[in-house]
Parts: sequence; structure tokens; C-alpha cells
Amino acid sequence: MSETMKAYIEEAENALLHTYNRYQIVLEKGNGVYLYDTDGKKYLDFVAGIAVFALGYNNKEYNDALKGQIDKLIHTSNYYYNVPAIEAAKKIKKASGMDRVFFTNSGAEANEGAIKAARKYAYLKDGTTDHEIIAMNHSFHGRTMGALSVTGNVKYREPFEPMIGHIKFADLNDFDSVLAQVTDKTCAIMLEPVQGEGGLFPATEDFLKKVRALCDEKDLLLIFDEVQCGMGRTGYMFAWQRYGIKPDIMTTAKALGCGVPMGAFLMTERVGQHSLTAGDHGTTYGGNPLAAAAAEKVLDLFEKDHIIEHVREVAPYLEKRLEELAAKHEDILERRGCGLMQGLVFAHPVAEIINRALEKGLILINAGADIIRFVPPLIITKENIDEMVTILDACIR
Ligand SMILES: *Cc1c(COP(=O)(O)O)cnc(C)c1O
Repeated sequence: MSETMKAYIEEAENALLHTYNRYQIVLEKGNGVYLYDTDGKKYLDFVAGIAVFALGYNNKEYNDALKGQIDKLIHTSNYYYNVPAIEAAKKIKKASGMDRVFFTNSGAEANEGAIKAARKYAYLKDGTTDHEIIAMNHSFHGRTMGALSVTGNVKYREPFEPMIGHIKFADLNDFDSVLAQVTDKTCAIMLEPVQGEGGLFPATEDFLKKVRALCDEKDLLLIFDEVQCGMGRTGYMFAWQRYGIKPDIMTTAKALGCGVPMGAFLMTERVGQHSLTAGDHGTTYGGNPLAAAAAEKVLDLFEKDHIIEHVREVAPYLEKRLEELAAKHEDILERRGCGLMQGLVFAHPVAEIINRALEKGLILINAGADIIRFVPPLIITKENIDEMVTILDACIR
């Protein structure tokens, strides 16, 4: 490492709050699926800023759209309409199959909005204020207090108790555990169709079907958090489309802006007509012209560049190559995941392997201590996958 990079890292450690144990590299620029640090070292990126930069770095059309918007208008309040937000709203409606959208700045904020919409829906029905939400163990919904309250990981929640309250937890793919938590006060069931941070667990179709039927029977709202598994990652624009089981409220973020902070919660017309109204919710930045121009362009490029078709072509190859690695190395217990959202489960912590890979020019990330997670840019090729597997193979001992 150069003295320059060392100095940057020292300055960072003196100024930034220590909420991350950062890898010892300073990233400077990117091109396609490669990143470069301030020393000019090249890295193959299998993280994409955690499932964000779907279209690859330095995408000319995306960059030009942003530059054009910067010269026109970057921000205006949500008290006025702006053209990029109108276009982005039309396009996300079409891509998601939902009817109403509210733009946010992040995934956590999208989930906050979803929770508020669900509570308001229940409040309008019976006028009471003690409604419950059922969330899943091992889920991850974000770090703000509401999103944290529905996150099924005690370690993340405990130091910040009390949570928002009236949240119950069940197990993904165990319908009886969900049933056991249902009371007269339940207003919503919230889950990720494919759990990300919690360990790359896809929901089963049978489970989602039963949860959907339960929600229909009792007029509960089904909330899908597609912040990580949405936007093409599973080979469908949104993961629910893979199962054909539609939520009442859906959240998205990460790849929606491809790096410009942008999220959204969306709902069906029925929920839209019976939940949040004027004065109930707001945001200064959410859906501003710059962020909306980013999302609009991303949604355009998904269609124009046939991103979904590409994911369907390369994802089975990634799965196959990871299966081969799992078969070869005894300390890999399992491959699991879906599409370009994969994990290798090890019999031991993976931090050392990830550090060795970084030295060899491959960026990987964990999901929990023992799992290496693969959430590359969606434009990744089979050659890139081979390159990754060759490096990773050499890093596993
Ligand atoms: C990353 C993530 C979030 C939180 O999104 P932020 O933009 O970091 O607030 C919420 N839900 C899921 C499933 C995520 O993967």
C-alpha cells in the first residue's frame, strides 16, 4: 500500500464514526465490473456496493442522464411536480405491477413508509392504535428505529431498545410459526422474498402462497421488502413475480438509483385509497429531480439492455460454478440463494478468505460471519464469473 493510501485511511479513521470495520482500501473509480483504488490497483467487483450498481460503473448513458439533469434542476420540494419523478413513477409502476408509489432516499425509509401505511390502513378500519406486525427471524429491513424494530436479529436491536413495539417474529418458510403469532390485532406480515443480510434464504412458493391466503382471509397487508432481491437480481424485475404472489405493499431501493440514493414504497390501489393521505407522510429529498432522473434512466436501461434476460443467462452459470466449489472444498457446507444473489456457507468465519481475495484483486462481502455473499453488478459475464471462481478457489485453504 502506498503512503498516500495509508494517509487517507488514517484520516478516515480519525474523522469517521467507527460504525464499520472497513477493508483497507480506498476506492477511487470504476469501469464496468471493475473498481480501482487510489494506487491504481484493479479489482473485480462481486459486491456492487451491496447489490446497488446493477448496470456497472461508468455507464455512459446513465452518467449522461445525471449530468443533463444536474444542469437543469437538482432539487425542488415535493410540494411541486417534477418531470423526472413523474416519468420514474410511471416506469416503476409498470415494472413492479403496483399502483401507487412514494419515493424515499433509502431502503430503511421505504420500510418506514410501508409500516406507516400498514398501521394507517388498520387504524382506518377500527380506530384502534395497538396493531401488530409479524416479521421474520433473520430478516433485515434497515437501521432506523422502525425498520430496526422489524429486523429479526436481536444483536442489531438490543442496544437500542425499546423498539416501536407490537412487532412479533416468526420463521420464514414455517407457516405454523406465522399462524402462532396471529391475533385480532395483527395488521400486516412483512418479509423479504429472498432474505439477504440474514443469510441468502429464499422463501418457498408454498410458504408465500399460504401467507398470501392468510392475509386475504383476515384482511392483513402483505409487505414484501424487495430492497435487495428486487430490481432484476433474481432474474425477475421483482422477486414476487418469480413466485406469482403479489404483495399489498412493496419496498425497493439499492439498485433503483444505481448509486444515487433512491428508494420507494409502492402499494396496490386498494391500499393507496385506504391508508396514507395528505399530511401523513413526507420527505424533503425523496424523489427529487436528480434521484428520479437516476431511477428513470436505470429503468430505461434495464429494458434497453435486456438486463433481466442477461441475469437469466448468467445466473445459472454462477450457481453451477459455486456448486463446483462447494463440492471441491470440504469447508463449504452449502450454496444457496437465487439468481445473482448467492451465498456460500462455510464451516468457519469467512473474513480471512475475503481479505485474501481482496489482496488478489477480488471484492467479496460476507452475510453473517460464515457466509460469502455474491451480489455482483447484473451485467457480469460468464468470463467474469470464471475469473472470480479462479481467484476465490485459490483463497480457500
Ligand atoms: C439494505 C437493505 C435495507 C436497508 O436499506 P438502506 O438503503 O441501507 O437503508 C432494507 N432491506 C433490505 C432487504 C436490505 O437489503
